[in-house]
Amino acid sequence: MVRFAGVTKRYGPLTVLNGLDLAVAAHEKVAIIGPSGSGKTTVLRLLMTLEEVDAGVIEVDGQPLTHMVRDGQLVRADRAHLRRMRGRIGMVFQHFNLFPHMTALQNCMEAPVTVLGLHRDEARERAGELLAMVGLADKLDHHPAQLSGGQQQRVAIARALAMRPQVLLFDEVTSALDPELCGEVLSVIRDLGRAHSVTMLMVTHQMGFAREFADRVCFFDQGRILEQGPAEALFAQPREARTRQFLRAVM
Ligand code: ATP
Repeated sequence: MVRFAGVTKRYGPLTVLNGLDLAVAAHEKVAIIGPSGSGKTTVLRLLMTLEEVDAGVIEVDGQPLTHMVRDGQLVRADRAHLRRMRGRIGMVFQHFNLFPHMTALQNCMEAPVTVLGLHRDEARERAGELLAMVGLADKLDHHPAQLSGGQQQRVAIARALAMRPQVLLFDEVTSALDPELCGEVLSVIRDLGRAHSVTMLMVTHQMGFAREFADRVCFFDQGRILEQGPAEALFAQPREARTRQFLRAVM
């Protein structure tokens, strides 16, 4: 579903991703863990086309993310291709990024109406269903400022789902929350994983959740995957000394 092949990303003199290879299968749930600055968030930002690769290729559903084939040549994607590809991917951010002047319902209706061209009534119905699914049926008309952090993050999850993405990206979605509010957000993600066939890629510092929820865990170090494997195996018996050192420090 998602494939990074030899992806390098630099910011000036700093090489953040260094020839990264990563393939995520359809319906797979992959957790990305690793030290600060190892390039974890950059992987998600590249997938959202918020950044561009310096070398290598990213494919989603077998198609290059930012390029297209025209007359047998690989050329930069036009706006229509980019819009199509972006529509396959949804992202939930660390700081929620809700529209502050809109209610929870309006937040979840905005993109389906303006980007997908859904009729407002249909978008409203779907937004209401999704907000009910994340436990916010009684908060539809609340603005973000009237919601707790955990509730705001649940609106953000519903908003991402409203676009019917094939791939959902989570970027440290609980790290801005008080510990008692993390649980409600993680529980929504857990339910989503069970009920939906969406592919998930999550950057997380919640090792317990990664271990329990992810099919596979990738340990990033210096812009590459140093070690990866089934969650239980990686946490119980990490092969690399660097992984062991990291896990000892954070767990
Ligand atoms: P953390 O766990 O702290 O969030 P991370 O592994 O997610 O770290 P990234 O956010 O991917 O790391 O960033 C990797 C490196 O790239 C960091 O050193 C960061 O300072 C740098 N970086 C990220 N974005 C930019 C940018 N727009 N311009 C310059 N440097 C950047």
